[in-house]
Amino acid sequence: MGSDGRQQRDWHATTCDEALLHTNSTLSGLSSEQARQRLAEHGPNQLRQAPPRPWWKRLLAQFDNLLMLILLVAAGVSLGLGEILDATAIAGVVMIIALIGFIQEGKAERAMEGIRGMLSPRASVIRDGKRHDAPAADLVPGDIVYLESGDRVPADIRLLETRRLRTHEAPLTGESVPVDKDTAPVDAETELAERSTMAYAGTLVAHGQGLGVVVGTGQHTEIGQISDMLQRVEKLRTPLLRQLDRAGRTLAIYILGAAIVTGLFGFLVHGEPLAEMFMASVGLAVAAIPEGLPAIVTIGLALGVQSMARRHAIVRRLPAVETLGAITTIFSDKTGTLTCNEMTVQALCLPSATIAVSGMGYIPEGEFRIQRDSAGDKAHPMTLGDHPALGHLLTAGVLCNDAALARNEERWQIHGDPTEGALLVVAAKAGLDIATVRHSYTRRDHLPFDAERRYMASLNTFEDGDRLLVKGAPDRLLDMCRHVAEGDILSELDHAFWLQRIHDLSSQGLRVLAIAEKRWSRETALKEEKIERDLVLLGLVGMLDPPRDEAIQAIEHCLAAGIRPIMVTGDHAMTAKAIAERLGFVRTDAPLTGRDIDRLDDTELTECIRTVDVFARVAPEHKLRLVKAMQANGGICAMTGDGVNDGPALKRADVGIAMGIQGTEAAKEAAEMVLADDNFATIVNAIEEGRKVYDNIRKTITFLLPTNGSQGLAILIAVLAGTLLPITPLQALWVNMVVAVTLGLALAFEKGEPDLMQRAPRPPNAPLLDLFLLWRVVFVSCLLLLCVFGMFAWLLHGQDNPLALARSGAVNMLVMGSAAYLINSRFLINSSLSWHGIFGSRPVWLAIGLVVLIQLGWTYLPVMQHLFESAPLLPMHWLAILLASVGLFLIIELEKRFWRKRRPAGLAPSQAAANAADQTRETRANSS
Ligand code: ADP
Ligand code: MG
Repeated sequence: MGSDGRQQRDWHATTCDEALLHTNSTLSGLSSEQARQRLAEHGPNQLRQAPPRPWWKRLLAQFDNLLMLILLVAAGVSLGLGEILDATAIAGVVMIIALIGFIQEGKAERAMEGIRGMLSPRASVIRDGKRHDAPAADLVPGDIVYLESGDRVPADIRLLETRRLRTHEAPLTGESVPVDKDTAPVDAETELAERSTMAYAGTLVAHGQGLGVVVGTGQHTEIGQISDMLQRVEKLRTPLLRQLDRAGRTLAIYILGAAIVTGLFGFLVHGEPLAEMFMASVGLAVAAIPEGLPAIVTIGLALGVQSMARRHAIVRRLPAVETLGAITTIFSDKTGTLTCNEMTVQALCLPSATIAVSGMGYIPEGEFRIQRDSAGDKAHPMTLGDHPALGHLLTAGVLCNDAALARNEERWQIHGDPTEGALLVVAAKAGLDIATVRHSYTRRDHLPFDAERRYMASLNTFEDGDRLLVKGAPDRLLDMCRHVAEGDILSELDHAFWLQRIHDLSSQGLRVLAIAEKRWSRETALKEEKIERDLVLLGLVGMLDPPRDEAIQAIEHCLAAGIRPIMVTGDHAMTAKAIAERLGFVRTDAPLTGRDIDRLDDTELTECIRTVDVFARVAPEHKLRLVKAMQANGGICAMTGDGVNDGPALKRADVGIAMGIQGTEAAKEAAEMVLADDNFATIVNAIEEGRKVYDNIRKTITFLLPTNGSQGLAILIAVLAGTLLPITPLQALWVNMVVAVTLGLALAFEKGEPDLMQRAPRPPNAPLLDLFLLWRVVFVSCLLLLCVFGMFAWLLHGQDNPLALARSGAVNMLVMGSAAYLINSRFLINSSLSWHGIFGSRPVWLAIGLVVLIQLGWTYLPVMQHLFESAPLLPMHWLAILLASVGLFLIIELEKRFWRKRRPAGLAPSQAAANAADQTRETRANSS
C-alpha cells in the first residue's frame, strides 16, 4: 500500500529536499485541491477514538450502589416470602430508577462531549501559497506547517526550517526536558528521542519557531501507533459530587441502622410478624434515602456547562463549574481581554519632533501632523519628504514585524499580532509599500517577540550591509541604547528626556514601543548578549487600544458581586494605570511593576496585594507569585493567560482561564476554562452561571430532602407507636421515584435570582447545607408529616376498604404537598408570592402537570391499584389535598418572610454581601 510505504520511510534521515520530493510537495505548500484529494485518501488527522463504554455496562453501573443493593435484596426476600406482587413492583421501580440515572448520565456525558468538540486544535498551514489557519484534523501528508512556541505539534513533521526550536516530547518519549531541533539529517538508526529533524504529533513546542512538511497524520503518527490509551476519559465526578456521595453514604448507614432498630422494636415490643417488620424496615430505608440526588446534581452541572458554552465560556473540567461560583478575585490580562486589541498608532516620537497620526482602525488612511518640533512650530500637516527620519523609523517598524495587512472584501484585516499590525497600518498611511520594503531589505534571521524578553529583533540586509532592527518595550530598549539617530546624525542618548516622553505617551493610555537599530557583521550569530547593547534609538511609537465597552460594565458587575478584578499586564505602568482608570478599577493609584514584585518577599507581597489592583511590566513567572499571594490571603482566584509560560500560574489558580483566540494550545491545556471570545465580560458571565448552578443545586437538595424526611419519619413513628403504616414501603418507593424524576429536575432550570451578582462570593468551605437550610428541611418535613398523618387519619374512618383509601390519600397528599413546596423552593429566602414567583417557571409547571397526571394514573388505573394497593379518591378528597397543599405553601412563605425580616447575618448571606459591595463602591468613589 502506497500510503503505508510512505509511513515506513526513515524521515529523520532524509534531507529536506528528499522529504519534499517524497511527499510530493514544495515549500509553497499544497493546493486546496491536492489537500482535498489527499484527505480523501489518508483520512482525517485524528487519533482513533477510544470506544465508548457500552450501554449495558453503563446501565449495570447504576446498580453499583448501596441503596440499589438493599432494594434488590428486598425484592429477593419478598419473592422468598411468596410476595410475588411486591417483589415485581420493587424490581420494576428499581429498574426505572436505574434507567433514569442511566439516561441522565448519558445526557450529561454527551453535553461534556459536545463541549470538548468545541476545542479542537488548529494548525497554521500553507495552502495555495498562503498561510492559513486550519483545523488540525484537515492536515494531510505534504502540507507545509508552521510551528510556534506553545503549539501542540499537529502531525508528524519533517522540519525544513528551525529557529531555536525546542519541543517537549514527554507524551511520546517520557523525556522531561525540551529537546533541540534542527534540519540536518540524522542517522537512520537514531532512537525516536534523538531524531532532531522531526517534530512529532502530540509533543509541545516549548520554544522558538519552525516550518516543516507533514509526513504522517492520524493513526500513522508515532503517537497514533502507541495510543489508543491516551484518550483520557473524564469522569463526571466533582468535589461537590464526591462530598454528596460521602454524605449520602453516611446518611444511608444511619438510616439503615434506624430501620433495623425500628423493625426489631416493632417485632419485639409490639409483637408484629417478622416478615412485615422486615418490609417496614426496607420501606423506611427506601423512603428516607434520597436516591435521586446524585443524578440530579450531575444534570445540574452539565446544564451549567452548556449554558456557559452558549455564553462563550468553554469549561474543560467539570469542577470548574462549582469553583467559578466561589471566585473572589479575577486576575486578568489587559491586551485583548479588557481592551479590544485593535491597536492604532496615534503618536510617533522622533528625536526632534512629536507627530500625531489621525485615523482609526486598520484602514491605511490618515494624516501626520507635527505637534511640536524643535523650532516650536505647532500642528501642521507633514509628509515623509519633510522628515527622512520618519521614513527610517517606519521602515524599521515594517521589517521587524511578522504581521500582514490585507484587504479582504472591502475590509482591512490584520493577520498576526495587532501590535505589529498597527505598525504596518501607520507605514501604509505614510505611503510606504509594505511588500516592496520587505522585498528590498530581505530578512536573514530574527528573534520573535517574547513576553519575558519584551522585545523582538530582526536581521535584515540593507544596501550598505546588514542591520539589526529591534523593537520592544521602551524602558527595556532605553537601557540597551547608547545613541540616538536623526537621519545620519548620531547623538548621545539623553535618558531623562526620553523617559519623560515615554511617560507622556503612557499617561495618555497609549502602549509605547521603542524602535532601535545597529550594524551587524555577517559572521555574528543572533545571540541575546550581542543584541542587547550599543543600539541606536530611532524613535517611539504610541498606540491606542481602546477599552472594551463590555469590560467596563463587567468590572462594575464584579465590584457589585464582591469580586475583585486585578489587571496584570506586560505593558508600561502608566499605560496600565490610564486604561485601568477608564475601565473602572478601584485601586489604580500606585501600580506595582514586575521589578517591584521581585523586590518583595512572599509575605510582603501577600500584604501588598491587598491594596493594589494594577500590576504592570509583569512577566509570566510573576503571575504565579501573584496567585499564591492572593491565595495566602484566602482568595479564590481566576487567572487568565495565553502563552506557554503562563501554564504554571493557570494550573495554580483555582480556575485557570485560557484565551481561545490568542491563546496557545499549551495554555488551553493547562486551563480549566477557555474563553471562546477572549473577552473579560465572558469570565464574569461564567461566574454568574457558576453561582446560579450552585444555587440551583442547593435549592434542589433543600427541596428533595423533606419528601424523604417526612416519609421516613412517618414509617418510623407508625412502627414505634405500633399503629398502621400510613404509607406502605412499596408506596414510599413509588413516591421517591415520581418526585425525583419530575419535580426534582425542575429546579435545575431555574434562572438566577436578581440579586445573584449582588451577593458576596460564597465562602469556599461553606457547607452545601448550612444551618438555615437544615432548619428548612426539618421544618418542611414536619409540616408534610402533619399533612400526611392528618389525611390518613381522616380517611381511615370511611367504610369500604378504608385502609387502601387512607393510604392513597396520604400518598397523594405527600406528592402534592411536595409540588407546592417546589414553588416555595424556587427562592430559598426571597418571596415566591407573586405572579412571577408562582407562574414564572415553565419547567416547574411542566413537572407539576406531569406529576398530577402520573398520580391520577396511579390512583385510578386498575393495574396500579392492584400493584400499589391504591384506591380511587373522591373529588372531596382532592379538594382537601389541594387546600392542604396551598396551606403548606403559604406557611412556608410566612417562614421565609420571618427570616427576611430578621436577616441574621449567618442565615442570609446576601445582606453581608450587599454591605461589602457598598463599601467597595464607596472606596471607588473616594479614590476617583
Ligand atoms: P500585554 O500584557 O499587554 O499583552 P505584552 O507582554 O504583550 O503585554 O507586551 C509588553 C510590552 O512589550 C508592550 O508594552 C510593548 O512595549 C512590548 N511589545 C508588545 N508586543 C510586541 C511586539 N510584537 N514586538 C515588540 N514589542 C512588543
Ligand atoms: Mg500581549
